Amino acid sequence: MKSSSPARRALLPVAVTVAALAACTSTAPPTAGAEAAAPPPAVAAAAAAAAPQPVARVLAISIDGLNPDALTQLGRAGAPAIWHLVDQGVHTFEARTAVELTDTLPNHTTMVTGRAIARDRNGHGVTWNDDRTDPATVQAAAGEDVGSVFTEVSDAGRSSALFTTKEKLRLFDRSWPDGVDEVTVLGQDDALATAARDDLVAHHRAFTFVHLGGADVSGHLHGFMSPAYLDTVSRLDGLVGRLERAVRRQPQLAGTAIVLTADHGGRGESHRDPAQRVNYRVPFVVWGRRSAPGTSTTCRAGRTPTRAARRSATAPGLSPCATATSPT
Ligand SMILES: [Zn+2]
Repeated sequence: MKSSSPARRALLPVAVTVAALAACTSTAPPTAGAEAAAPPPAVAAAAAAAAPQPVARVLAISIDGLNPDALTQLGRAGAPAIWHLVDQGVHTFEARTAVELTDTLPNHTTMVTGRAIARDRNGHGVTWNDDRTDPATVQAAAGEDVGSVFTEVSDAGRSSALFTTKEKLRLFDRSWPDGVDEVTVLGQDDALATAARDDLVAHHRAFTFVHLGGADVSGHLHGFMSPAYLDTVSRLDGLVGRLERAVRRQPQLAGTAIVLTADHGGRGESHRDPAQRVNYRVPFVVWGRRSAPGTSTTCRAGRTPTRAARRSATAPGLSPCATATSPT
C-alpha cells in the first residue's frame, strides 16, 4: 500500500533554488538620513562585519541514491559534514523526486531544468537511464527548447561547472554546451570531489554541480540501507566535508551557498518503483549566509524572477531571489 499519492507530490528541484540564488543579490534597505548622520567608524565596521553577503556562488551536491534515513541512522557522528549543513541551514528530509520516475538521469534532468519528466506533463522527456546518445539532447527528448540552471547562469554572464561520476550526465553538456563551461567525469568519488574542490578554489563559478555516485553503487551491490551502504554514505560525507571546508576557509569562496539533495532514495535491492516512498523521498538542504534582520532581497537589475523562481516561493524557507539563510 502506498504511503501517499505520488500525484500529490511536490517538486523541489535544484534548478528552482539555484536559479533564484544565482541570479540575485541581497542588499540592506536604504537608511533614511544615512548621509547626514554617518555612524562612527567602529560602529560602521561592526555593522559591516555583521552584514550579510550576497550569494555569489552556488555549490549543488547530489548524492545519488541517498535515502534520508541513512542520515538519521548515521547521526551526527557518522555524517558530521551533512549534519553540519542541516543544523546550520534549512532542510527537509521529506523532499520529493519527480513523480514519474526514480532513476538517476531523468531525476537529475528534473533537478537542473525544474521540469517534470513526462512530455505529457510538460516534462523534459528524458525517460532513459543509460549512456545512449540518441536522443542526443534534452531538447530532442522534449521536442522543444528546454532551458536549465546552466542556461540561466550563462544568460547572467556567469560560469558553471559539472562534476559527475556517471557518463550519462554528459547529456547536460550536450544539451547546454554554452552553459556548461567545465565538465569532469570521474568514476571515483574521492578524485571527483578533489577535482571539484580545486576548481571551486581556482575559478569564480556562479554554479558548480557535483554528483557523487558511490552510495547508489553500494546500494545496488549490497542493498540500500545495508551496513555497507551506510558505510559508503559516511565516506561520502567526508567528501562533502572536503568541499564544505573549502567554502568555509577560502576567502574567495565567501558568499557560497550549498544545496545538497538526491535524485532518489532506495531500500533493499532497488530504487526503481516510483510509487514507493522509500524511493521518492529525498533530503533537501540549503546552507548559506545569514540574512540579517531587515535586509531585503532583490533581483539583479534588469532581471525578473523566473516562473520557476516564483514557484519556489512555496518552498519552505525560500522565496523568489531569496538568499539562503543560516549562520556560517
Ligand atoms: Zn541506481
